[in-house]
Amino acid sequence: MTIAYLGLGANLGDARQTLKDAVVCLAQQHTITVLAKSSLYRTAPIDSSGDDYFNCVVKLETLLPARALLRLCHTIEEQFGRERPYRNAPRMLDLDILLYGVSSIDEMDLVVPHPRMTERAFVLVPLLELEPDFIVPQRGRADQFVAGIEDQRIEKVATCQCIVPNARTHAPFASTKPNCR
Ligand code: ADP
Ligand code: MG
Repeated sequence: MTIAYLGLGANLGDARQTLKDAVVCLAQQHTITVLAKSSLYRTAPIDSSGDDYFNCVVKLETLLPARALLRLCHTIEEQFGRERPYRNAPRMLDLDILLYGVSSIDEMDLVVPHPRMTERAFVLVPLLELEPDFIVPQRGRADQFVAGIEDQRIEKVATCQCIVPNARTHAPFASTKPNCR
């Protein structure tokens, strides 16, 4: 099994809903297990145009080799109507492999760790939410790159907060209603 991290992004259509649906779609794949999902973030387009993006990062476990995982990402992008009219065009859904275990891959159509992941707030911020002490293979601690992305607009989107009961004390739910806005 390999732990991998995917970066999800969208800025066409109902981008926020698309990201939620895409995470469900990932979770339904029998070849992967979704282990964690960051909050959704709203971000300014970078090297792209159009509306603001919605982004999140998903941590998963898979037996798929990296290239098969990339094919799966492309298949899911297509299912969500992804088109590539030109480079960096606005998109219905973008699924990038940020990390695949500790692998370093440098091929024509697959570069891992993702070459721009430490320069993009829309990747670093959700990744650090999931893994505050994350070490990027060959690059070191992820949090050392935060100073370089401080000028990039990013805001966490308020969503449904699931309240997890305290397993240790078996305390009941703090509230019967989730905090949805
Ligand atoms: P973007 O670079 O904006 O994500 P695309 O999603 O159209 O643009 O991807 C362009 C190409 O990038 C894909 O055809 C894919 O083969 C290649 N690629 C290289 N490394 C990766 C990676 N780590 N994750 C996803 N795609 C990658
Ligand atoms: Mg992509």
